[in-house]
Amino acid sequence: MSNTPVFPAASLLGYPRIGRRRELKKAIEAFWAGKIDAVELDAAAKEIQLGTARRLVELGLTEAAAVPGTFSYYDQVLDAATHIGAVPARFGDLRNADGQLDINAYFTLARGTVEQQPLEMTKWFDTNYHYLVPEIGPETTFSLTSNRIVEQFEYALANGFETRQYLVGPVTFLLLSKASDDAPAGFSPLSRLEDVLPIYAELLTRLGAAGASWVQLDEPALVADQDVSLAEIQAAVARSYEVLGAAAGRPSILVSTPFGALAELLPTLAAAPIEALHIDAFKGAVPSAEELALLAGKTIVAGVVDGHNIWRNDLAKSAARLDVLKAAGLNITVSTSTSTQHVPHDVTEETQLSAELRSWLAFADQKVTEVVTLAAHLVDPASSAAAIAEASAIIASRAAAPGVKRPEVRDRLAALTAADFNRSAYSVREAAQEESLALPPLPTTTIGSFPQTSEIRSARARANKGAITGDEYTTLMKEEIKRVVDLQEELDFDVLVHGEPERNDMVQYFAENLEGFDVTVHGWVQSYGSRCTRPSILWGDVTREKAITVEWAEYAQSLTAKPMKGMLTGPVTILAWSFVRDDQPLGDTANQVGLALRDEIADLEAAGIKIIQVDEPALRELLPLRKADQAAYLDWSVNSFRLSTAGAVDGTQIHTHLCYSEFGVIIDAIDGLDADVTSIEAARSRMDVVNDLEAHGFGRGVGPGVYDIHSPRVPGQAEVTELLGTAVKHVPARQLWVNPDCGLKTRGYAETEESLRNLVNATKEVRAQL
Ligand code: GLN
Ligand code: ZN
Repeated sequence: MSNTPVFPAASLLGYPRIGRRRELKKAIEAFWAGKIDAVELDAAAKEIQLGTARRLVELGLTEAAAVPGTFSYYDQVLDAATHIGAVPARFGDLRNADGQLDINAYFTLARGTVEQQPLEMTKWFDTNYHYLVPEIGPETTFSLTSNRIVEQFEYALANGFETRQYLVGPVTFLLLSKASDDAPAGFSPLSRLEDVLPIYAELLTRLGAAGASWVQLDEPALVADQDVSLAEIQAAVARSYEVLGAAAGRPSILVSTPFGALAELLPTLAAAPIEALHIDAFKGAVPSAEELALLAGKTIVAGVVDGHNIWRNDLAKSAARLDVLKAAGLNITVSTSTSTQHVPHDVTEETQLSAELRSWLAFADQKVTEVVTLAAHLVDPASSAAAIAEASAIIASRAAAPGVKRPEVRDRLAALTAADFNRSAYSVREAAQEESLALPPLPTTTIGSFPQTSEIRSARARANKGAITGDEYTTLMKEEIKRVVDLQEELDFDVLVHGEPERNDMVQYFAENLEGFDVTVHGWVQSYGSRCTRPSILWGDVTREKAITVEWAEYAQSLTAKPMKGMLTGPVTILAWSFVRDDQPLGDTANQVGLALRDEIADLEAAGIKIIQVDEPALRELLPLRKADQAAYLDWSVNSFRLSTAGAVDGTQIHTHLCYSEFGVIIDAIDGLDADVTSIEAARSRMDVVNDLEAHGFGRGVGPGVYDIHSPRVPGQAEVTELLGTAVKHVPARQLWVNPDCGLKTRGYAETEESLRNLVNATKEVRAQL
């Protein structure tokens, strides 16, 4: 295009959508509860969109198209699905009288109906954000069924802001989709590309007609290894942008590729008729000279500021990267590596953190300033020299600050030997545990948490506000523990739990009780839909000043003659659900957490606890996007778990818990954890996982879940008996444990009691037949 508008010198790939005070969450939940109507919801959404635009302009994103139009009511993949009509046939026709998928249809797909499960949810690349998985088959009919991104553009423009609207790109959309229930075996959603492209093209035409100068098509799937062959993906990328490039009256196109290096797909995009290409120059590499030569004529949007973690950018390093790109004679602009939807809004709100810690951090708003500073550097290095020097000084002071490096932790890690990562042979442990525990065959247990009642939440809130004393809070929690223990006795469980009432969250609880962490007050990040988490900040060397869980476990054990499980969160999960320091390898940080947990286990043993569960639900989550990087990850992650647990004596039974059932890729790693008992999710897949376990020859205790705790539905006794019948066909009965899929925290008591009763009775039935 001869009259290509210039791409803004400074931009962001995306901005948090949930609102500085989670206004969107509140509005959506009020809409679901029937407290506000669609018009009021729309008004609340508009206010958030305009608030974002105003804020970003104030922070320096003043050029046209610099403000990203990344608002979403729930999820960006669902947005794409509802624009192009990708509704699974199982929902019937959700279009309204105008042939559109309105907000009710949108939330139906996200949340399901009485008869239909919602779209499945899964992790967005290596983040803790979850998107909804479209279901595509030969039967899917694509058509333009929503105009929302165009309307959002028009509304912002009418209010004086020209945004750059965002859409998940067609190749990523189809690669993230799964085959529908109606599709034949082996069907690939990517085979529907030709049918999807005209709809995308029409949307671009509409955006152009509305006055948009730029549009952003997000293609992160291109930086991750896929099951589809590279040649097929290259062809799909080339074809997609050939079609979209030819869309009549379209805006200029930016293709964004966050989360890593494009590698083999860079030349494909370089040859495509798009005007700007974003590269992740933070996590990915700066392209080589040959690659840069291919990019001539396009604007390169260099993502040098990390959108996915919260550390102040090393501006000097970023400036050097930008200088390399500029020296190649390319038109360079500055952005974040990913959308900043993965970080909180504004660090200046965290006034409870020390000024020093705050100076090390950059949340979304601070990242805007960094991007603007770096853009200024490209024009005139002198203009940003002071800011760059300040960043370097702060990063240097961070490295030397107390608590960042603790010699005692480093010495202890340096002195570790292979023996610290290994327990005795399993046969030796098994014999010792049989003696110390004397459990029946098919022992019954639960995963840890019991329903978090409103009484528990209110007690915690009152304790946080100082309305009750610490002692009063402890008494309330102990009463709750006693109730939970009595219930398990009455239900006749073999191995008991204390129910975890004292934990706000399985990671934050440990972060609050370990040195080297801090927690935020307003640092909410969208996890999925209206759900947010508040990740802790792991900034320093990790130490444990005093025992964390022992008093609770000891008290719970005192209430019963049956074994009480100690309950800890594993090092990988603690890292995965926190913002983690970037100044040393993750494996070193994981081992520091591992040592703290190892000490906690020793204290639990000393207090008479004989079974200790170390949860690692996030082990699969951090798996790198490139296959070549996976072995190294699995190596350090498994080792940190082993370091946590290998100090236990033979007679102590170590459990672990993983909450997913796609086991295939990491089954060796799971085996490598060397836990005595592993509980896993299995109820939804009707015990499919036992086939994997059998094929692998998994030799230690295993508890495939027999109760899907994600829904209030109560599994009948016969159903559990049947699942156990399947399990004993594939796993020797002496290895088998009986438990739900996951913790019961989100369940109500009525369904929980009935389900657990059925679980125990079914076990007794199957035991009698052994
Ligand atoms: N022990 C935890 C619980 O029961 C495990 C939670 C999880 O796996 N996510 O709540
Ligand atoms: Zn779980």
